[in-house]
Amino acid sequence: MHITTKALVLRTVDYKESDKILTLFTYEQGKLTASARGCRKKGSAIAAGCQLLAWSEMVLYDFQGRWSVKEAATERLFEGARRDIERLALGCYFAEAAELLAVEGLPNPEMLSLTLNSLHVLDKLPHKPLPLVKAAFEWKAMALAGYEPLLDGCAVCGIAPPQNPRFHLREGVVHCAQCREGVGEGVSMPLSPQALDALAYIIHGDPKRLFSFQLEGEHLKQLADAAEAYLHTQLERGFSTLDYYKSLTL
Ligand SMILES: [Zn+2]
Repeated sequence: MHITTKALVLRTVDYKESDKILTLFTYEQGKLTASARGCRKKGSAIAAGCQLLAWSEMVLYDFQGRWSVKEAATERLFEGARRDIERLALGCYFAEAAELLAVEGLPNPEMLSLTLNSLHVLDKLPHKPLPLVKAAFEWKAMALAGYEPLLDGCAVCGIAPPQNPRFHLREGVVHCAQCREGVGEGVSMPLSPQALDALAYIIHGDPKRLFSFQLEGEHLKQLADAAEAYLHTQLERGFSTLDYYKSLTL
């Protein structure tokens, strides 16, 4: 059986002398694993499309219950992002996070579009602050994976917007600073009203305009710090690609 599908390469592992095992993200099949035979040989026609972060039209065939890449016509390599080490590192983090949050064989077109849009921004919009791009990706990815933060007022007293708002990492809710006792144990992080507005825009706004907001200084820092901490708290793990990105931006 053959299928023709657009695919984003989320992960590559070298295998044998000249092969790779790829983790692909597709609209129709969600996340899937495919082997790419001979793609590390000089002159391989599928080499470009089998790189990490390549977006290609692929022909896959089913060989003994496993997918194998037959053809790969590259459409986007996000070269602008590849030319800058910080952008490339951030793109690799987006791929690692998407790989973790996507479920094998379950279509998740919103998550794929989010990943592609985020790579597009890294590629083509160099004026966008990287902390803003990273925070928007993280919050939106968490929402799409079933961890949507509850932002409709204080989780304890109900007042909207909360007074001196804070975000509770384990519960995924906002609350007033003075309602802290009512939320339970765990860490709460400050989110200024401006940061909270930006978060509501990320979660509830038009996904096509996800990155079309402005936030600076301490407000952006709060949005970004809470995003990363929320991901870490809910998923209970770190990311090697994130560690690498952070080592570059210290
Ligand atoms: Zn309250």
